[in-house]
Amino acid sequence: MSVKPWTAAERGRILRELAEVRAQRGQALDQENWDLGDSLKAKLDELEAAYYAGLPRLVMSCCPFDGKPLVRTFDPIGLDGLWWHPDVTPEEVPTCPHFCVLGGAVNYQGLPPLAGDEEVYPGPEIPFVYPRLLALPGVVAVISSLPMENGYLAYPIGYFAEKRPPGEQLVAGWRHKHHEWRDQLGQYGSRYENDKWDFDLRPWLEQGKILWTPPGSDRTKLADEPRERCPYLDLPGKPEQVSIWKDKWDYLCPPDGSYISPYDD
Ligand SMILES: [Zn+2]
Repeated sequence: MSVKPWTAAERGRILRELAEVRAQRGQALDQENWDLGDSLKAKLDELEAAYYAGLPRLVMSCCPFDGKPLVRTFDPIGLDGLWWHPDVTPEEVPTCPHFCVLGGAVNYQGLPPLAGDEEVYPGPEIPFVYPRLLALPGVVAVISSLPMENGYLAYPIGYFAEKRPPGEQLVAGWRHKHHEWRDQLGQYGSRYENDKWDFDLRPWLEQGKILWTPPGSDRTKLADEPRERCPYLDLPGKPEQVSIWKDKWDYLCPPDGSYISPYDD
C-alpha cells in the first residue's frame, strides 16, 4: 500500500463530510427515500475508504527476536478518528513472524480527553500488560511511547513471541472490544475482550518479559538499560479503563478476565 497519508486538514475534511453525509442519510432513511439512502451510503463508503487509505503507518515497536520494526496504522491527530472506534481493523502491512498483538494506553498530559461522536476506549492512562499472554511460553511485551499531534502521549505495547501462539490464545488488543481469529483449519472464532490487565510491571520486568524502547526515540531499537531504570514504571495516571464520547469521559473498572456472554452486551 503506497497511498500518501492525509494531512491534518484533509483528515478534518473527511471526518466533517462523513458526519454530514451520515446525518443526510439518516434523514433520507427517515423519509423512506431508499434511493437517496443508497447513494449516500456509497458516499459514506468512499469517505471511509479515503480515511483508511490515508492513515499514517508508523513504527510502533521493535521485535526483540529479529530487531524488525513493527509498522501499524495509527491516527495520531485525535481520538475522533475512525481508527479509534472499537470494532475497526484497518488493513495492515505484513509484520515479522513474531508479532502477536498490539496493546496500548493513552495519557492525556493534562489536556481534556476528547473523542468524536462514537464512544472510544483508548485504554488506561498508564502502560499495563496482559498477564495471561505474558505467561505463555516465549511471549514478551515491548512498551514504547508515541507522542500524538494533539498533545496526548500514546503508549503502544507490542507483544512478540519466538513462536506465535494460535489466534484463539491472543487478545484483540488496543481499543478493540471483540477478539476475532481464525484457527489452523480456517474456522472463524470470536469473543468479547475482557482479558485481565496488570499494572504491576516490576515482576514481569524481573522475569525479562517486558522490554522497552526509549521514550523520545523512533521506537526502532530496544533500550539497553538495567530493568530497574525502566522509564515506564510509576508513571502518573489511574489504573482504570477510560471511555470517552465527545467531551464526556469516565473511568471504568479495568477488565477482570471473566467471561462475558455475547447476550449480555
Ligand atoms: Zn520478529
